[in-house]
This record gives sequence, C-alpha cells and structure tokens, in this order.
Amino acid sequence: MTKHTPYYELRDALQGPGCAICRLAHKAVARYLDSLVYENANDYRVRADAKAARGFCNLHAWQLRDLHGAALDVAILSNDVLTEWERALADFTPQATPSFLDRVRVFLGLPGGQKDVTALIKTLTPQRTCLACRVRETTEHTYIHEWLTHITDPELQAAFVAAGGLCLPHFRQTLSYTNTPEQAEQLVELQRQALTPLLTELREFIRKHDYRFETERTASEGESWIKALALISGQRETR
Ligand SMILES: [Zn+2]
Ligand SMILES: [Zn+2]
Repeated sequence: MTKHTPYYELRDALQGPGCAICRLAHKAVARYLDSLVYENANDYRVRADAKAARGFCNLHAWQLRDLHGAALDVAILSNDVLTEWERALADFTPQATPSFLDRVRVFLGLPGGQKDVTALIKTLTPQRTCLACRVRETTEHTYIHEWLTHITDPELQAAFVAAGGLCLPHFRQTLSYTNTPEQAEQLVELQRQALTPLLTELREFIRKHDYRFETERTASEGESWIKALALISGQRETR
C-alpha cells in the first residue's frame, strides 16, 4: 500500500495518548485560524463564506479572539455579519393581514403562523457551516479514510492500541466508513484492546475512592476520569 503524507501524519499523531483524529483535527483548525488572521480574512471569498455562516460557532469564535493580532480581522468579518443583520431588521415588515389559517396556526402554537417572523428567522439562519468546523470535518474525513486504508499495518495497529484508540464520536464515524466485514471486525478488535487499560484504571480509581485505599492509588489512575471524559466526548479543543 502506497504511503503518502497523511499516513505519516497519522502515524505521528498516534504517538501521543488519546484520540489521534481529535488531535489532527484540532491541529488543522488551529492552523486554519492562524492563516485566517495572518493572510485570508480580507479575501472576499472568505468574507462571503463567513457572512453566509453568520459568523463562527461559539468555540471557534473565542479561539479566534485569543489569537494575537486578530482584532482587525474579527472587526471586518463581524461588520459583514452585523450589517446583514441590521439590514434584515430594517427590512422586517409585519404581516399586514394574516390569513385565517395563519391566525389558527398562531392560536394553536404551530410554526409558520407568522410568515414575517419566519422570513426573518430564515434570513438570520446560517447558510453554511462555521468555517473552522468545516476544516475540522474535512480533516476528520481525510484521516479516518487514511486509518482504514492502513488498518492492517502492524506499526499503526500497535500505536493505535498504545494511544488508547479513538474517542467514541470518532469511533462511530470510523465504523460508518468501513467497507468490508473484515475491516469492521479489525477496527472493533483494536478498539476493544485499546479500551482495556483505561477501563482497568478507571475501575481501580472508583474502587480506591474509599479512603481506606486512597494511598494505593497511582498517578495514572488519578487521571483516569479525565481520560475517560476525553474518550467519551472527544479531546478538548484547545490551541
Ligand atoms: Zn476523537
Ligand atoms: Zn466552529
């Protein structure tokens, strides 16, 4: 099987503990936000996309805020979204005479009874995904495919198990990308092996929570509850 750059990037990401797909996706998002601030925020296509997305999701908006030198770029991108919002508010014209059916819908609490309100909500709704979330999705897709392509590679298999496998969301996603029963079986078996050490530590952590056993607890067991959080919900996205 030919090995390209993504293979080596995946292999490197598997050297650290925790979900490699999370790690690669976070790195790609951080790189993207940097490039946005240092090169692209004034690009008319980026501005159009950011406007269509109605800005960034909460997580990426605040990551952007923490970037050095982001002030002017955030101001420009925000001005585009706010101008659109201002225009939509100015264009809001209350429905002159709601039809009988519209009034019945309002009375019954059904949506669509206030067409003017519905139209305003539609204008303010994002027409595309947050730009940084899109980068995350594309990256996840690329490396999950790379992992499945090389799932029989002994070096990657060993690193996968040692790293503790994938987080639950990425495991589900990877499982949905498998093409053959053999591939699915292999993935399940590797994830099963990868889970065992953490589960053992987590159960020990719970057992030794009793003060009588507290002194027996190892440092690794002490962190097992945080590792469990990351395993279930994905690694924390930080810069
Ligand atoms: Zn993950
Ligand atoms: Zn986002």
